[in-house]
Amino acid sequence: MLSYKFPIYPNKEHKARLESALEMCRFTYNKLLEELQKQDKIDRRKIQHKILELKEQNPDLDKVYSKTLQYECYRLFSNLSALNGLRRKGRKVGHLRFKGRDWFKSMTYNQSGFEFEKKTDKRGIIHLSKIGSIKIKTRRQVSGNVKQAVLKKSDEKWYIILQTDSERKDLSHGKESIGIDLGIENYITDSNGTRVENPKTLGKHMQELRELQQVLSRKKKGSRNREKTRKRLARIHEKIVNVRNDFIHKTTTELVRKCRFIAVEKLDVKEMMEQEYYNARNISDASWGRFLQTLRYKAASAGCEVAEVDPRNTSKICSNCGNMMDMPLHIRTYLCSKCNINIDRDHNAAINILKKASGGLVRASAEIINGLSVKQEASGVSPR
Ligand SMILES: [Zn+2]
Repeated sequence: MLSYKFPIYPNKEHKARLESALEMCRFTYNKLLEELQKQDKIDRRKIQHKILELKEQNPDLDKVYSKTLQYECYRLFSNLSALNGLRRKGRKVGHLRFKGRDWFKSMTYNQSGFEFEKKTDKRGIIHLSKIGSIKIKTRRQVSGNVKQAVLKKSDEKWYIILQTDSERKDLSHGKESIGIDLGIENYITDSNGTRVENPKTLGKHMQELRELQQVLSRKKKGSRNREKTRKRLARIHEKIVNVRNDFIHKTTTELVRKCRFIAVEKLDVKEMMEQEYYNARNISDASWGRFLQTLRYKAASAGCEVAEVDPRNTSKICSNCGNMMDMPLHIRTYLCSKCNINIDRDHNAAINILKKASGGLVRASAEIINGLSVKQEASGVSPR
């Protein structure tokens, strides 16, 4: 799915309705979480049913489009399954948190309750049930049918993210086959030894995040200062997410333009909802999850194959002779005791990932690679 993020221009009344709808979604989310925590055995239907109960007690909830409210149940359960994914990976993740104002910034119209009306190339109107009709500045042409509209508040401004069913048509795949290793020092190292570093601004913001988190822990609970720090923390967090998403978009597009076959390690991390990333480690985990997800959908629309392999031993095996050595994390160079090859640790792993994927494809490799280009030609898109 393609998504577009545009600024919207609510008037005073719209703004008040948006604010209160967002607040009611947050209230609902927290109430559903409370219900979830009471359950010994999770019963999703019962939690969903809780929404009706809440509506009876709080007539104000009727001012929010009903499916937007129901979406909070979906949000809760995807946060839960993301958390469980990390737990299975052996992380200490704690439990889901109640959302404060600064960590709750979006609400979703899924499938219905909204209509996007295009006025000119640069302007449109979004009609939202229970909110009204709000002007949009469309910076790009929206193609396809809009399936979901997410309203997002950021730095006191409102945005809309329109998700459509159309696929990217402007991207075509390249010719190379590469393997990639995802890491912390270098975000990506590929099987040709090319490295892509994390953007520098990301490091700067991460440092700020860490420092502020420490400051926050020293502030008195409920104090004004603490509230201020929380707000700053939320803003930096948002900057991080933006820088990261831009970076992921650029990197995945370049990869697909270059390749027809990309081998990656299979990661267990499900995509987490943005608001659950609190610490640096979760941010990088989530970032890899999102990177792979973005790569998969871009590759699929361009006809590029992405193969996932089990990353076990890919750091320990010598990509040159097949020797196996112990490779503790701090050792950055693979110096093979058998064939004497001297190669960067991540580069070695990337070659192994590519080899593993190609090995797994032995049966069908020719068909897959050839079939791919035949399909491409048949559909009129020429492989470069
Ligand atoms: Zn070797």
